[in-house]
Amino acid sequence: MFLNLNHIKKSFGQGDSRVEVLKGIDLSIEKGEFCVLLGPSGSGKSTLLNIIGGIDHADSGQITIDGELMEKMTPKRLGLYRRKHLGYVFQMYNLIPNLTVRENIEVGAYLSDHALDVDELLDTLGLADHQRKLPNQLSGGQQQRTAIGRAIVKNPDILLCDEPTGALDYNTSKEILKLIETVNQKYGNTVVMVTHNDAIKDMADRVVRIRDGMIRKNYLNEHKVSAEALDW
Ligand code: ADP
Ligand code: MG
Repeated sequence: MFLNLNHIKKSFGQGDSRVEVLKGIDLSIEKGEFCVLLGPSGSGKSTLLNIIGGIDHADSGQITIDGELMEKMTPKRLGLYRRKHLGYVFQMYNLIPNLTVRENIEVGAYLSDHALDVDELLDTLGLADHQRKLPNQLSGGQQQRTAIGRAIVKNPDILLCDEPTGALDYNTSKEILKLIETVNQKYGNTVVMVTHNDAIKDMADRVVRIRDGMIRKNYLNEHKVSAEALDW
């Protein structure tokens, strides 16, 4: 198993105000899998992504990535993992305002020795004609495409997406999810994505529903059936 979470627990706060946000998460994801994480607001989805991403630390439990135990990583190794092997896409695009689309994507290749070809990537992203524009000359969807480009130009093993379409209209959201699916299929990155968008219905390989800090459903979506049929 490529990504393995073993009984991950996490609390925030002190004393009486201490809240257990993750109550023992067990989850295994295969290499190249497109895993979607669903659940109500406040259920611990972002916290879980941040722990996988090495941004936050679990109180207990283990994470192994490609057989390597995360807690055994030195700070240097963890930094390398975050910079080279992990891509992150957020709801807010956080592009650098004074760099062009192309330059924003190139920033993501920083330190990578196996970066993707930027011209090919711009084509895949539908951004070839916009590559010399600045972020404020782009639509929201184009900005998110650029942010996806920045995250995947280093061809990361894992792409973490935290509500990547949260700020976009329905049709643009569908385009962006489709694009993430294309990226997953073309480059084989393992994707863990939090979304509320039901347009994901035909794309996810695995569907995980989390509520109150626990996994309530976890199944392979082999037939890529509709969200309605899955009772989302
Ligand atoms: P989700 O992404 O599913 O909406 P989060 O993982 O962001 O949920 O948050 C889960 C719970 O943990 C929320 O109640 C939130 O307020 C709390 N929380 C998240 N991060 C912190 C933090 N750094 N300090 C204190 N509480 C936090
Ligand atoms: Mg969140």
